[in-house]
Amino acid sequence: MTPSDLPRPIHKIHERSPRSFQEASVRKYQELAGKNFYRDENCSQILDFLFIGNIETAYNEHLLCKLNIESIVDISNMEPHQIPRHRKSDCPCTCALETSHPRARLWLGVGESRNTDMLPYFEDISTFIEAARRKDKNVLVHSLEGDSRATCAIIQYMMKYHDMTLRCAFNLVKKRWPTVNMSASFQHSLEMWERKLLPGVQASMTFEEMSRQNAWN
Ligand SMILES: [Zn+2]
Repeated sequence: MTPSDLPRPIHKIHERSPRSFQEASVRKYQELAGKNFYRDENCSQILDFLFIGNIETAYNEHLLCKLNIESIVDISNMEPHQIPRHRKSDCPCTCALETSHPRARLWLGVGESRNTDMLPYFEDISTFIEAARRKDKNVLVHSLEGDSRATCAIIQYMMKYHDMTLRCAFNLVKKRWPTVNMSASFQHSLEMWERKLLPGVQASMTFEEMSRQNAWN
């Protein structure tokens, strides 16, 4: 086994200078933002192996097969029988594989109240996604609409495992998936996550500052 075969180590942000970390994060954003990734009205590719989507994507067998999704993080809070009929696709998988595709799933019941803190779920979500990446599996993270819980889940993963600040991770997801619409408590969870990952380093952004800027523009 050569060094390049070994799993990529979890970065240790605090061992790098804040400035070099922030500059590397911006470079990473620019590199990723320029990629010509998959996108449709229900799903968007964020990284080589990582997709965000809504409930339609999660039940579209044809698309899951086409995108080679083998791991799913389900934060829809819905059992299959609870999903409205009109939101389930009638697109069966038509590939040559005769058995149904096995897929690893992480199901998380994340409350939908305005005060729900997503921080307690971040470790489980990012560990699951990263384990799939290390096995070369493509991952879909979905919630009901994909604009709040799934968005928050993907941003925190990129902060932890892809050397991105909150600002860069948020901007990247927003560029690829413009319907981003997170509650104030989820925004707060992400700000706390950055503090935890980058102790003692000035926050890369606050959502309050961003909404003030947007109000002026
Ligand atoms: Zn198939």
